[in-house]
Amino acid sequence: MSLLTVGSVAFDALETPFGKTDKIIGGAATYITLAASYFTQQNNLVAVVGGDFPKEMIGLLEEHGVDTKGLEIVQDGKTFFWSGKYHEDMNTRDTLITELNVMEHFDPIIPDSYQGTEFLMLGNTVPATQKLVIERLAKRPKLIMLDTMNLWMNIALDDLKSVLKLVDLLTINDEEARLLSGEYSLRKAAKKIMAMGPKTLIIKKGEHGALLFQEDRIFFAPALPLEEVFDPTGAGDSFAGGFIGYLAATNDVSFENMKRAIIYGSAMASFCVEKFGTERLVNLSKEEINARVQEFVKLASFEIQ
Ligand code: AMP
Repeated sequence: MSLLTVGSVAFDALETPFGKTDKIIGGAATYITLAASYFTQQNNLVAVVGGDFPKEMIGLLEEHGVDTKGLEIVQDGKTFFWSGKYHEDMNTRDTLITELNVMEHFDPIIPDSYQGTEFLMLGNTVPATQKLVIERLAKRPKLIMLDTMNLWMNIALDDLKSVLKLVDLLTINDEEARLLSGEYSLRKAAKKIMAMGPKTLIIKKGEHGALLFQEDRIFFAPALPLEEVFDPTGAGDSFAGGFIGYLAATNDVSFENMKRAIIYGSAMASFCVEKFGTERLVNLSKEEINARVQEFVKLASFEIQ
C-alpha cells in the first residue's frame, strides 16, 4: 500500500553529552521516510527545502526508494533549521533555535501520482499545513496519522485542534499529552485527547517505551535498554516511520496489528539513537531489523502458570 509523508526536511545542529554537530541533515519527514523505506515500496514525500539543501541527500532518499517528486526546492530560500541541546539524561532536550525559513509559507502541492494514497503520515509541522494536505487529497486515506509538538500547542492551538478532528491517530510524547489535555494521569489525558478527534493515540515515553490507546484498550511497548544512546534526535520520527510503514506493508489497521507495528517502530527508533542524525538509519538491513524485533519479543514476554 502507498504511504504519503508530509513534514520537515531540515538542517539540524545538535549538542549531546557526547559531542556537537554542525549543520547535519534532519527533519521529521527525513527520518519518517527513511524508517518507512524498510517496509513499504511506495514511499512518497511532500516537503520543501531551500536552494542550500544538498542534492546528494535527495539522492540518498531516492536510493532508499523515497519518491521525491513532491519535494519542492525554493532556489532562493533557506532550508528549515532546528537546533537542540540534550540534558545529561538524554531524555529531555531544549530547543535552541527554530528557523522556519521556507517552511513558513509552504504550500504543500500533492503530485497527481500521490492521490489515492492509503496511508498518510503528517509529520510534525505547522498544523494549518497539515490540515491543507488532508483537504487536498481527493480520497480520504485509510489511515491518517499525525505527529505534533509543544510548540504548536503553545502558538497554534486552535489550528491544531481543528486538524485533530480529521485524523485517526495522534502520536505525541508524555509531556505533550499532559500539556494538550491538562491532565497529569496519562490515562485521563488519553481519554481527553481521543475525545478531540483521533480514535487511537500513541504516547511516547522516550527510553521508557510507548503506550497505545484505543477506546478502552491499552497496550504498552517497552524501549530496548541500550548500552549507549548517542543522539535521540529523530527517535520519535523513526518510530512513526517504522510504525506506519509496517501498517502500510501489511495493509491492516486493526488494534492487534498496531501492537506489532509499535514494536517495529520501537526497533527503528532504537537503531536511530545509536549514531548521530540519520547515519544509522541509512545503513540497515532487514535481517538486523528482524533480529532487533526478536529482542523486543524476548524482553517483554513471560509466562504465568
Ligand atoms: P524527534 O527527535 O523525533 O522529535 O524529531 C527531531 C526532528 O524534528 C529534527 O530533525 C528537527 O529538524 C525536526 N523538528 C524540530 N522542530 C520542528 C518543528 N517545529 N517543525 C518541524 N520539524 C521540527
